[in-house]
Amino acid sequence: SVSTLNAGFKNSFAMLPKKFYEPITPETVHDPVLQKYNWKLGRELGFNFTQETPELTDCLAGNLVFADSTPVAMAYAGHQFGRFVPQLGDGRAILLGEKITPDGKRVDVQLKGSGRTRFSRGGDGKSPLGPVIREYIVSEAMHALGVPTTRALAIVSTGERILREDGIHPGGVMTRVASGFVRVGSFEYFAARGDEAAIGELADYVIARHYPEILETKDRYRQFFSSVATRQARLVAKWMQLGFIHGVMNTDNTSISGETIDYGPCAFMDYYDPNMVFSSIDTMGRYRYANQGAIMKWNLHALGISLQALLGNTEEEAMDVIDATLTAFEQEFLHAQKVGLLKKIGIEKPGDQDFSLLGELLALMQSQKTDFTLTFRYLADQIREGSTMTPQFQKLFKAPDAISAWLESWRKRLAEENRPDVIQAKMNRINPLFIPRNHRIHKAIEDAEARDDFSQVHLLTALYENPFTEQPKFTDYAQAPADEKRVTRTFCGT
Ligand code: AMP
Ligand code: MG
Ligand code: MG
Repeated sequence: SVSTLNAGFKNSFAMLPKKFYEPITPETVHDPVLQKYNWKLGRELGFNFTQETPELTDCLAGNLVFADSTPVAMAYAGHQFGRFVPQLGDGRAILLGEKITPDGKRVDVQLKGSGRTRFSRGGDGKSPLGPVIREYIVSEAMHALGVPTTRALAIVSTGERILREDGIHPGGVMTRVASGFVRVGSFEYFAARGDEAAIGELADYVIARHYPEILETKDRYRQFFSSVATRQARLVAKWMQLGFIHGVMNTDNTSISGETIDYGPCAFMDYYDPNMVFSSIDTMGRYRYANQGAIMKWNLHALGISLQALLGNTEEEAMDVIDATLTAFEQEFLHAQKVGLLKKIGIEKPGDQDFSLLGELLALMQSQKTDFTLTFRYLADQIREGSTMTPQFQKLFKAPDAISAWLESWRKRLAEENRPDVIQAKMNRINPLFIPRNHRIHKAIEDAEARDDFSQVHLLTALYENPFTEQPKFTDYAQAPADEKRVTRTFCGT
């Protein structure tokens, strides 16, 4: 039923033709508790809720629909692990509406885990609390780390028992916010149906929302395709500079707006290994850390093929555009990757030798399995000429001799760059001390699911708001897990 609360929603997506979505009412739950509400984000978005009320909780649980919401489940297809599935769609998510923020931006607001839709296939449309907590913590951390991402507004526990392969879990509903939820798979959906009109209409819709600067250009569809590619190149490079592994880079989880979306079995690696995989279902390592750039290129190829009719007058012409765009993507990605990684070691004016200097460090990190985050973070303290290593840095390396020699060349190189204190301060602004480590998230989920104890959820979300700032009371939370505490597998939680 309908709430008396207005969210201030517009519903432009729900005004597109019916084939783009299914109107849907969220399922009701018996025992909703608002466990977490992101007041700061709520204010930034312009929501005028000032306190927890039963009515607000009901709206965020799906029991009530905001008075000005037109809820829909969006249609999309997608390549899952390289295999095309012509119909996926929002099977456990519902778009409530679009909020126009005080600075004039339009964002999508979704419930995730609020019940079945036309796209649910065999699923129940629900979510256990675990995946909702993981997405909340990680997406908010990513934002604080400077990565384009969906945001997390709320977690409601539903009091339901959700059956999954590994047992029964308490249920959760998440409210999440994106600059837009249209995906590569949204275009593939209409391409698979040969509906060129829909592809053009959807393209015009997302161009107006996410790429307004190209609206009036004469080759806007080509520009659109290459703009998506540029944003994705920069996005994936950012992931990699933080040791982030998305885990399910299917085309339906690849956003048109260039944000990180659909956090599933994602994780930050502890020790550096380019072949790192966490997701339990990624048995071939398709979405391993070092493959993410190549996979994004693959996904953009799928987008290009879906846009083909808009990219050229003939198939050949379109193929040339796709090839050129993918080549440009690759260059942009490698450039962003190189520049970003060099900044992590304090180099802002790259020269010819710098990439091999970086390569030597990465090789050492890999062979000695040093912690990815802390190696870069503590490196800034090793900057002073002639100084020995700090104990905490030295401890990261099993055999410190090789790194000691590397530090010598590094310090020499940095002497040409800037004053040590300036470099050190800059490095500490891009190399985080705190990342959402897997074992910490695991514990937060365990406490919440087993004991209804959300204290770790609150603590972690507060801590990760300032990932670059030392927080003396929480030094343990910066540390890598002991070997026996390492959490090496993550699950989709579907
Ligand atoms: P994902 O890759 O996890 O984002 O989801 C892939 C597809 O499965 C999407 O179409 C989801 O909506 C759908 N899906 C995942 N979990 C469920 C569920 N519990 N019930 C219904 N559909 C689901
Ligand atoms: Mg998805
Ligand atoms: Mg999933």
